[in-house]
Amino acid sequence: MTALVLDGKAVAAAVREEVAARVQELGFTPGLATVLVGDDPASHVYVRNKRRAAEQVGIRSFHHGLAPDTSQQDLEALIHQLNADPHVHGILLQLPLPTGLDAQAVTEQIDPRKDADGLHPANLGRLVLDRPGLRPCTPSGVLRILEHYGIAPAGKRAVIVGRSFLVGRPLALMMSARGVDATVTVAHSRTPDLAAVTAQADILVAAAGVPRLIGAGHVKPGAVVVDVGINRTEDGLVGDVDFDAVAEVASAITPVPGGVGPMTVAMLLANTLAAAERLGPG
Ligand code: NAP
Repeated sequence: MTALVLDGKAVAAAVREEVAARVQELGFTPGLATVLVGDDPASHVYVRNKRRAAEQVGIRSFHHGLAPDTSQQDLEALIHQLNADPHVHGILLQLPLPTGLDAQAVTEQIDPRKDADGLHPANLGRLVLDRPGLRPCTPSGVLRILEHYGIAPAGKRAVIVGRSFLVGRPLALMMSARGVDATVTVAHSRTPDLAAVTAQADILVAAAGVPRLIGAGHVKPGAVVVDVGINRTEDGLVGDVDFDAVAEVASAITPVPGGVGPMTVAMLLANTLAAAERLGPG
């Protein structure tokens, strides 16, 4: 079997088009503030891509690049300033922060209504409660790509490898939410016999950050495999899934790059739009 490749770039382009059309109907220009502390090269690339994507759909971006030795107090003061700025509807704090800064404490200072990343405890709490709120971008992107290809999680067995607050845990909540209705197992580094667990999945999501962790032996024939991993190796960017081997077993698979990555950016724009629709012109 050779799997259908789920084209995250194409689905992300469709999401961006929808966002652009709704931005036109708003009657004002939504704004996304990006906050980047330090000089991590990968983070610079991510933020540049997000800003460019925002501008392309008609969202104005306001960039704040701060020195690596920025204090917690100064960073939180900037967040307060952005919370109060009526031109800013979404705030993106690029993670990770340099050592010494408390990312969780900064995130908690973001106005939950402007929390474009969906990582504020108020929004994560709303997710637990199954109430509307801004959802984390990567898990939203995973669900959106499945939806686009008509892969309904309802009644399926989903296994998620990884339990981070950024990806694995919120995705588990979103996939098991009423209306989505997958039966979800979360695996992690302490899971014994990972392959035996993942081989039960109808939908397998890998979000571990371990290059090619998932091989053909981890996958049930015909399963859908979503690779969230982005790992820089000597062979370039690779996911958590051994793509070539798994594509022979799975019915559908996301590539890296060009899978979940572009979806994350598109869902950030969708969150910024949703925040702007709710907040209004200010
Ligand atoms: P993280 O915070 O490091 O979490 C990794 C999770 O994977 C942890 O729960 C860890 O278990 C688990 N894990 C690690 N090694 C494992 C193993 N050998 N077997 C089973 N589970 C294992 O990482 P993250 O922020 O969730 O990111 C995960 C990956 O997704 C990274 O490659 C990251 O770059 C990528 N990512 C991609 C996007 C995108 O847009 N495509 C967005 C965000 C992240 P423990 O909890 O037991 O340590």
